[in-house]
Amino acid sequence: MKRVSIFGATGSVGLSTLDLIRRAPDDYKVVALTANSDVDSLAALAREMGAAVAVIGQARLYGALKEALAGSGIEAAAGEEALVEAAAMDADWTMAAIVGCAGLRPTMAALKAGRTVALANKESLVSAGGLMMEAATASGATLLPVDSEHNAIFQCLAGSSLDDVARITLTASGGPFRTRSRAEMADITPAQAVAHPNWSMGAKISVDSATMMNKGLELIEAAHLFPVGLDRIEILVHPQSVIHSMVEYRDRSTLAQLGSPDMRIPIAHALAWPQRMATPCQPLDLTRIGRLDFEAPDMERFPALRLARQAAEAGGATPAILNAANEVAVAAFLAGQIGFLDIAMIVEEVLNRYSAATPAVIDDVLAADGRARIEAGQVMERLTA
Ligand code: NAD
Ligand code: MG
Repeated sequence: MKRVSIFGATGSVGLSTLDLIRRAPDDYKVVALTANSDVDSLAALAREMGAAVAVIGQARLYGALKEALAGSGIEAAAGEEALVEAAAMDADWTMAAIVGCAGLRPTMAALKAGRTVALANKESLVSAGGLMMEAATASGATLLPVDSEHNAIFQCLAGSSLDDVARITLTASGGPFRTRSRAEMADITPAQAVAHPNWSMGAKISVDSATMMNKGLELIEAAHLFPVGLDRIEILVHPQSVIHSMVEYRDRSTLAQLGSPDMRIPIAHALAWPQRMATPCQPLDLTRIGRLDFEAPDMERFPALRLARQAAEAGGATPAILNAANEVAVAAFLAGQIGFLDIAMIVEEVLNRYSAATPAVIDDVLAADGRARIEAGQVMERLTA
């Protein structure tokens, strides 16, 4: 029986994780579930799964959560500190599926406590990858990549030495606007941007996939998880999303991981690790798929790819600044305040205006993140004035 905690339980990845747990009730027991503001969904999930603790991120919602859990025996907690405390609670497996840099402190707490952390929350690794990897090494925590590409790479590495790796290829679907010109991208609406051709995901990552910032963030994520050097990590557009990534070894043997584009497959890999579990996912039917296509990524039409690689090369606080500016810009785009092409433009402008010293502790990362958000707000004000 694995005792599991799920951070971001009400989101796309959180609900997929719970779907798998529901199908194997004898193998998993839920300890803690968290959400940001959806009290009703969180309370319903906590009751259904018999969680010990439910934490709502918004401190002002404590009363509402307590009321929703009345008579259940489930402990209610609220606020960022409560999230951090819940992350340090004893659990055999912790899913980090909060979206954005908001997941950084809870994820760090789980790593510092030496937990086994299934990491979906790529923004935390982008912002503070060096500190997170150090914390995991120091405490003996295990980090299991859930992002489908990184989970694929993890599987293709199968314990091999990184010294033997010649190249890692991150595959990218290219998103919903893979074939559009820059001019055609100007009036893309939020509804069009969140309609991904292959994957069903939360709104923020769907917009990131449309700008291809998602692949840029994943490049930085991969560089931390699999430190082979940035020059050995490349991006390949593969519209069918069947090959989830590849590892080429120095003998020129290449291993790829394939599967239907369903997040429950990489989540199941991390959940059952080091074993395997059954999933309800579609078996791969290559006869029906027929062909697999590949293209080089286009840095001109998708400047986010260029910005992310530059930020990865610059290192230090730059990826945290890139991420924070992107989070602000994506939220503004989803709110209808800016255009689609403004997203990468705002990120670039913030990177030009602001830099910070290499973070030594998490508070340094959060300070750079906070300042970058202010800068992004100022760039946007000028834009919409
Ligand atoms: P989502 O928006 O569907 O869910 C986000 C979850 O985080 C929700 O439970 C929400 O309540 C919680 N949350 C949001 N803001 C919070 C805050 N400030 N404090 C505490 N909790 C907060 O997002 P998602 O698509 O499930 O993605 C989650 C993470 O996994 C992201 O980092 C994303 O990049 C990554 N990821 C997602 C997918 C996918 O298929 N959805 C694939 C790969 C990686
Ligand atoms: Mg991915």
